[in-house]
Amino acid sequence: AAAVEAVRGLTPGPEGDEIQLICHVNPDGDALGSMLGFALGLRRLGFTRLRATFPGEFEVPTPYQSLPGFDLLVPQRAAYPSPDVVLTFDVAAESRLGDLARLLAAPCVIVLDHHASNTHFGRIELVDPRAAATSVVVEGLLTRLGVPLDAEIAECLYVALATDTGSFKFDMTTPAVHELAARLIATGLSPGDISRQIFDTRPFGAMKLVGEVLGRAALDPTAAGGRGMVWTYATQDDLARYGQRPYVLDTLIDPVRGVAEADVAVIVKQSGDGEWAVSLRSKGAVDVSKVAVALGGGGHRLAAGFTGRGTPGEVIDSVRQLLDQNLI
Ligand code: 5GP
Ligand code: MN
Ligand code: MN
Repeated sequence: AAAVEAVRGLTPGPEGDEIQLICHVNPDGDALGSMLGFALGLRRLGFTRLRATFPGEFEVPTPYQSLPGFDLLVPQRAAYPSPDVVLTFDVAAESRLGDLARLLAAPCVIVLDHHASNTHFGRIELVDPRAAATSVVVEGLLTRLGVPLDAEIAECLYVALATDTGSFKFDMTTPAVHELAARLIATGLSPGDISRQIFDTRPFGAMKLVGEVLGRAALDPTAAGGRGMVWTYATQDDLARYGQRPYVLDTLIDPVRGVAEADVAVIVKQSGDGEWAVSLRSKGAVDVSKVAVALGGGGHRLAAGFTGRGTPGEVIDSVRQLLDQNLI
């Protein structure tokens, strides 16, 4: 209700309030889709001073570049210097905002999210840990603001929902998720076209790179109290050899998590000098968000992440130790 009141209190139009929308670093389909979907909703309400951005290098994975509302996206240096309102999308913690965290000093900060580990950094919060995606929260707010779903908004929200539910395969794929998907598709979307474009299209070099990285995966059946862990790593040199950008590894965890002999899957991806973006996945028995939080990151029970330091072997050792401690 506070979020509805806050948005209703804003002044639309070319002389109106400056609205800055932001999402997390290395944006995924939910971050971009929920942010652009809401931005389009604000546009329908007559707001014109709208900018959307995310921290870090201004690079959007190719598949997301055709999302509706993409024209609202600007590099972080072009964000409003002191916006009247800041809205955050899919951001679990300030640390996920990089240099943009300074914007949280704005007079009005509205947080839209669905991470149970959300660190409550905003003044107005719409955080629903039971929501399958931030786009579910966004759709609820748009409805209460009286913005009807059109095909453009729906495409953004659909991409977000499909991304975070693993194409409607994960546990949080509830009847409500399918009901929302049905309403989104009913605006005229083609789920087949969207899936092909977003999830099933990649450069040849990306396929070769993934092949090599999967080929070096290791299985540790004694980890996690005998539940097993499978892991692999990718370096910046691997990316360079195949001429690929880091985001092509965003879905690398999917084939790894399917390994029958392991309850826990880990990918260690180089993000800098001795710095690694670590993805953790669990099949259910292990709460990997506990491991991620203990190592300075966050996420959900079955999908979490953190930034590791050292060599891939050292990063994996720290995960293995915590996995053994966290099992009861
Ligand atoms: P992924 O492995 O797909 O990058 O992320 C899985 C989940 O963990 C997502 O919900 C994401 O928000 C969270 N996550 C990944 N890396 C980090 C991190 O460094 N810090 C925090 N707080 N959460 C993370
Ligand atoms: Mn996300
Ligand atoms: Mn999300």
